[in-house]
Amino acid sequence: MDDKDVKRIESTERIIEVAIELGIKVRGNMGPCFRSERHKDNEAPTLFFNAVKNTFMCRTCPDVGGSVVDLICQQRGWQRQQALEWLEHRAEFDRRTHSMYHGKGRKK
Ligand SMILES: [Zn+2]
Repeated sequence: MDDKDVKRIESTERIIEVAIELGIKVRGNMGPCFRSERHKDNEAPTLFFNAVKNTFMCRTCPDVGGSVVDLICQQRGWQRQQALEWLEHRAEFDRRTHSMYHGKGRKK
């Protein structure tokens, strides 16, 4: 996988959908930060998702933020490679499920 693939993944995987899959309770474009130890229980959500740029950031934590791949790495404590593979698998699974339910499948 080269940089071009990474760029493609980072621009095509929608960050809010990925966040929801990771278990983050997103409402609109905000969610609670996954570094919960740094935040108070009743604090308003500080994690902000930018659907246009496909990025995220925490308003409190300076080291929380970045691309869709950064989100997975930071939330799960994974290496970049592992996050990319997870995303690839997920995309492949999507395609297979589509072709199962929609006949020939959709072209991307
Ligand atoms: Zn935070």
